[in-house]
Amino acid sequence: MTGLPPLAVVVDLDDTLYPQADYLAGAAAAVGVAATGLGVDGVRVHAALVRELAAGSDAGGTIDRALLAAGVPAGDLPALVPPLVAAFTGHEPDSLAPYAGVPEALAALAAVAPLGCLTDGNPVIQDAKVAATGLRPLLGPVLVTDTLGGRAARKPSPVGLVALADALGVPAERLLVIGDRPGKDVAVAAAVGARAIRIRQGEYAHAPDEPAAEAVVDSFPAAAALALDLLTGAVTPA
Ligand SMILES: [Mg+2]
Repeated sequence: MTGLPPLAVVVDLDDTLYPQADYLAGAAAAVGVAATGLGVDGVRVHAALVRELAAGSDAGGTIDRALLAAGVPAGDLPALVPPLVAAFTGHEPDSLAPYAGVPEALAALAAVAPLGCLTDGNPVIQDAKVAATGLRPLLGPVLVTDTLGGRAARKPSPVGLVALADALGVPAERLLVIGDRPGKDVAVAAAVGARAIRIRQGEYAHAPDEPAAEAVVDSFPAAAALALDLLTGAVTPA
């Protein structure tokens, strides 16, 4: 990690800028409706999918497991999974409310430094989420890691952060990353020698601080306030 102040800020999206649970609830409901339309018990499928997502939202195969848990015969899955995956990925929420104070905090950061967003996931889904939050005008470049090489490019792979540093015109080690997941957001910063601030909120709020961030806070505005201090040299980094 450099002792020099950061020159730009990269923020995560899910559970950093808005509660991802709000998106997942809507997508699961869309799958339930689609299942009903396919002649399956959509209420049971929806309930099973909610349980699967609660057990871990970024594992693959959630819809397959939900169908089996809802009592759908395994032989029916090849016909059902593709349209239900399409219903999930095609879900476009009308709006996703950001966490309190996020628009104001992003605007304050953007006033003093280049800002970008680095997020993992299906690019269609991530774009729909960004649009629904209404935050796009504040975010600068938004990079979905999967566009650089599928799941292998997801954090903590450094390829996305390095590409975003190029787009922002700063060396990767002079970035400050703000995110909720130690194993992704803090680890990707560490992979390029950059700093990170962890926010304890959302699905991974109770994950251990591994790897450790430069600071751990409870909200995005708190992270942004600390970031402003670092960007303007008001505090000396640890
Ligand atoms: Mg996140």
